[in-house]
Amino acid sequence: MRIARFSLPPDGPDGAPGGRVFAGIEGDGVTEPEVVRPLRGHPFGDLDLVDGTVPLAGLRMLPPVLPSKIVGIGKNYAGHAAEMGSDIPESPLMFLKPNTAVIGPGGVIRLPEQSQQVDFEAELAVVIGSLCRNVAAADADEVILGYTCANDVTARDLQRADGQWTRAKGFDTFCPLGPWIQTDPLPDAAAVTCEVNGDVRQQAPLSDLVHGVPELVEYVSSVMTLLPGDVILTGTPAGIGPLADGDHVKVTIDGIGSLSNEVSLD
Ligand code: MG
Repeated sequence: MRIARFSLPPDGPDGAPGGRVFAGIEGDGVTEPEVVRPLRGHPFGDLDLVDGTVPLAGLRMLPPVLPSKIVGIGKNYAGHAAEMGSDIPESPLMFLKPNTAVIGPGGVIRLPEQSQQVDFEAELAVVIGSLCRNVAAADADEVILGYTCANDVTARDLQRADGQWTRAKGFDTFCPLGPWIQTDPLPDAAAVTCEVNGDVRQQAPLSDLVHGVPELVEYVSSVMTLLPGDVILTGTPAGIGPLADGDHVKVTIDGIGSLSNEVSLD
């Protein structure tokens, strides 16, 4: 099942709530789906899908989740650590992005005037499904709702200047997420790919993650309680580079789909 969020009119099908609602997208994930099935309430716990469907055409897709916090992991691919001139951290290197940075599919990444170099970072995002703390790696699947695509947009010059990353990674629009949450397991050979204006700039199998998803859930949840909807960004592979006004950036992960965003001066 893929779970997205949409803005629906108040006269939805079969008593479905209007406004900003979660909805399930059924189908094989290959053929473009034509309808969505709204959920009553949220997707954390048992899914309560209404009987009726809504045509997908014309619906504006929202960010698939509104996290209370976004936990980023730095330098989690050997190739990216090398291009940053760094060793691979022995333990996962954690940082936070504010939830106000989140935009959805089709949202615009705004280049702030404070930075001269804003980079793309294509990443697998883990969406947490239940309140949890001190989760063992072996139990991580029990607290994961699913996966989505992310772009950990970073003002590289400010990251270097500040020595820590809050400003560099915290601007509004610096966390595109989407297009939906895939709750099915990802293919074993799944890769993350980033294209800018149609050119492939990053591509690596998820098996290249230094610290894998179960280990990250264990590590992060040993520090802070994770809430339903919280997001862990698992790190970016080699090939990062700057974005410019007018660029089109697309993050694709096999088994999930593609997250596309335009870039504009703020
Ligand atoms: Mg990153």
